[in-house]
Amino acid sequence: MKNSSSPARRRPFAFWTGMQLWKQIFIALTLGVILGTVLNQTGNAELAASVKPIGDLFIRGIKMLIVPLIFISLVTGVASLQDLATMGRLSAKTFALYLATTAVAISIGLALAAVFKPGVGIDLGAAKTVAAQDAPSITDTLLGLVPTNPIEAFATGNVLQIIVFAILLGMAIVLAGDTAKPLKRLFESAAEVMYKLTSIIISFAPYGVFALMTWVAGTYGLDLLAPLAKVIAMVYLGCAVHALVVYGGLIKLVARLSPLRYFQGSIEPIMVAFTSTSSSGTLPVTMMSAERNLGVSRRVSSFVLPLGATINMDGTALYQGVCAVFIAQVYGIDLNASQYLTIVLTSTLASIGTAGVPGAGLIMLSLVLTSVGLPLEGIAIIAGIDRILDMARTAVNVAGDSAVACVVARSEGELDEAVFNTPHVLKGDETFASRLIDQN
Ligand code: ASP
Repeated sequence: MKNSSSPARRRPFAFWTGMQLWKQIFIALTLGVILGTVLNQTGNAELAASVKPIGDLFIRGIKMLIVPLIFISLVTGVASLQDLATMGRLSAKTFALYLATTAVAISIGLALAAVFKPGVGIDLGAAKTVAAQDAPSITDTLLGLVPTNPIEAFATGNVLQIIVFAILLGMAIVLAGDTAKPLKRLFESAAEVMYKLTSIIISFAPYGVFALMTWVAGTYGLDLLAPLAKVIAMVYLGCAVHALVVYGGLIKLVARLSPLRYFQGSIEPIMVAFTSTSSSGTLPVTMMSAERNLGVSRRVSSFVLPLGATINMDGTALYQGVCAVFIAQVYGIDLNASQYLTIVLTSTLASIGTAGVPGAGLIMLSLVLTSVGLPLEGIAIIAGIDRILDMARTAVNVAGDSAVACVVARSEGELDEAVFNTPHVLKGDETFASRLIDQN
């Protein structure tokens, strides 16, 4: 690793460019909240909203990476497997962990909402009519995994179809043996280039995060949040409990690693997820930090993380649990034990079907409400503050993907403990953005 501290110290922005990336992002996030709140309270919400395009630019940059990054790194990962049975074992572990953590997440959400009753005493004045969301059939979902045209899957960014095609192509490369070596090398080289490009884009995260936070804090003033403060508190508390207890527990007890290092190592994707509210959009950051900060092998991260960004949504499931009970309370409906169980099942399915994009969880909430006969109008009460809830649930969605990647990698002997235990490698002064600042 290069030592850039001495030349950087003489430069005017050395204090900033020499800082670790996660600290830069954290400072940007905090400053964004402060600036946005000040602008909101002084009646300048429009000014706060005017910086949003800077955030959108960053998000567009990382979204640009998703399709080539998943495809290239997953093909490279599968093509480097010695035997294909590994793939089956990896998938089984990943699915089992994703499902189990999601079910626990909903239960935490249901329990918190049942105990603290955030919906009691809420005024129904603003409720509007909301249309129900139809659940896709299992046959359609399974058939939909196989692309009829891979180019179409790339063009529409259908992550699950891309995963299926990449796994099959990677397997074919293994089976084709020597003949496929040039193609394998081409993918390996392309993967390196994609990782370089990813690190260039990620280095702009602090600026994007700052702009997005200024916009959110400037638009959602305290007056808008106050009436629903209890439900916001429930979702945030549930997310914190789930992350600390379930992910912390998995890392400590199953992977036998330090939970503190896990949280430190995944802080960048967690903060980007929090501000962007898109786990798919955060995926390149999650993959990069899993590999460079947590020591997860590319083989495991390139399979577990894209899959997780698409189907593993613990934060969303927890939120749906809280909201279902909240809406039942608002309408004075008592839920019985079998309805609670139905919520656990449908929220698990709904969270799997939720796309990793902003606000998708709110739409899927209609599925959960319908399954237990709760009024869909309840969704309108939550819609006004959904962005605030989306921030917490997306952060947990992404944290869950990283935690499972660590556990699976550890169990496969694919986690580099030395990297995991080394404090952050993603440093500000190594990043592209910092070099740009330094040069000016
Ligand atoms: N925004 C969430 C995500 O991307 C999905 C949701 O709305 O719950 O993970």
